[in-house]
Amino acid sequence: MISHMNMALRSPMLLSRYSHLLSAKLQIQMHLSTSPLTRKMSTDARSIASQLSNSGLLKTQGLIGEKWSDAYDGKTIQVINPATGDSIADVACMGGRETNDAISSAYDAFRSWSKITAAERSKYLRKWYDLLMAHKEELAQLITLEQGKPLKESLGEVSYGAGFIEFASEEAKRIYGDIIPAPLSDRRLFVLKQPVGVVGAITPWNFPLAMITRKVGPALACGCTAVIKPSEITPLTALAAAELAIQAGIPAGVLNVVMGNAPDIGDAFLASPQVRKITFTGSTAVGKKLMAGSAETVKKVSLELGGNAPCIVFDDADLDIAVKGTLAAKFRNSGQTCICANRIIVQEGIYEKFANALLDAVQNMKVGDGFSDGVVQGPLINEAAVKKVESLIHDATSKGAKVIIGGKRHSLGLTFYEPTIVSDVHNDMRISREEAFGPVAPLLRFKTEEDAIRIANDTNAGLGSYVFTNSIQRSWRVAEALEYGLVGVNEAGISTEVAPFGGFKQSGLGREGSKYGMDEYLEIKYVCLGNMNKE
Ligand code: NAP
Repeated sequence: MISHMNMALRSPMLLSRYSHLLSAKLQIQMHLSTSPLTRKMSTDARSIASQLSNSGLLKTQGLIGEKWSDAYDGKTIQVINPATGDSIADVACMGGRETNDAISSAYDAFRSWSKITAAERSKYLRKWYDLLMAHKEELAQLITLEQGKPLKESLGEVSYGAGFIEFASEEAKRIYGDIIPAPLSDRRLFVLKQPVGVVGAITPWNFPLAMITRKVGPALACGCTAVIKPSEITPLTALAAAELAIQAGIPAGVLNVVMGNAPDIGDAFLASPQVRKITFTGSTAVGKKLMAGSAETVKKVSLELGGNAPCIVFDDADLDIAVKGTLAAKFRNSGQTCICANRIIVQEGIYEKFANALLDAVQNMKVGDGFSDGVVQGPLINEAAVKKVESLIHDATSKGAKVIIGGKRHSLGLTFYEPTIVSDVHNDMRISREEAFGPVAPLLRFKTEEDAIRIANDTNAGLGSYVFTNSIQRSWRVAEALEYGLVGVNEAGISTEVAPFGGFKQSGLGREGSKYGMDEYLEIKYVCLGNMNKE
């Protein structure tokens, strides 16, 4: 029957003949549509689903211990391709009961996983990294399919995301303790670093792979086990990555995946005394709830929350570098990253020249289906995202800001939005106070360096920030003054697995990536040996 279904996936005729089997078993829905764009996309979607199905990477069930599992009440949820509105698959819609079982599996697996040597854990992770990279194309296609970003960006996400697993596999062998000079001659003092225990990891839709790997890479390397809850909007990439973890030989229960009813799953994590750590990436509102809910069982918490990144362009900046950097910092992933430039703060002497150069560059941006050649901006994730952008632009223009390009939905329809620049923006407009999470670049004007720093720091967020200047002295001064966890000077591509990523203020707690990211999954144990002078 499975081979019939695989054949059906390859042939539209057989697809319709076996469609009842597909929905019952694989739960993959393929819809044919009529517009040229959606027709092309549906063909791509079908062939991609077919390839993934054949390679075993298209999973629609959660992973609990060694078993791929449906929701216990049989509920499913549709995964939608935002570029076409088509349904890609129906996945299990799980809740508290499945999560409790996944936590138990992780708890049982912790006993053995935490005891094997660091070198063994390192080998498993290395194998997982190798498999992620071997399946780079398929994973990237899956990301574009369910998230909408251009394929080139998805390929970049796979390399970036897999990099956290590679780095963790190397770092696993370097989790050193300390020997402390003792204050008394008959004592010997030392410090051990030990895994925290079971980790509950909750991730958003904007980086369906990388937000997971930068949590579970270090967690597993340290000897922790994990239950992952990907966004219900983009679960397919997470499930494919979990399948590759199994193929890498990572033992059952070390990695579990549940998805569906987010509050129920979150509550199960919070209520369980077996979950010792919550690691979350997402909105500040949900992060605060998880932090408050963790108090009952005093869990460790890492939070990667929303940003409000300033991008400061000084009069002495190199115009080309500043424009290229701003484009990348603003429009990557259709503006849907936590470190996307949210306020472009430009010094008055270069303001007009910069605005014109940015306008030229934005005019040339091609919007469309992420699988089409030359597309640099895909759709927004859903209708709510478009509405948020619309309301921010409406608020800004009603208070005197001017749209100089874009400012409306794209003629492609659905959730496509035109790349937009808004000038004459002030820091008290909603567009400057809230994360737009869309392709809209608000331009603010400033006079002095002090003004720029004051405007940039006038927010509750403190994640990414960017500075463009040719002065080394100014770079250093401004970088020190910015209340942000990350500062890119003359550079927008600052995220990497080897550097710490995380926020000041309400942008979060803790760091991901680098040696600092490992500490988030470790307890420090102090051991004192006494009476050491005894013969
Ligand atoms: P979100 O609504 O907070 O969702 C993030 C995750 O939390 C999803 O898996 C979501 O599940 C889950 N969730 C929602 N309500 C929950 C609850 N009551 N209990 C437990 N889990 C719950 O955020 P988003 O809109 O998906 O993501 C965008 C936000 O993430 C932006 O603010 C962005 O800045 C931030 N972000 C931050 C970083 C960083 O490193 N600092 C990186 C990327 C994104 P469902 O999706 O299944 O509902």
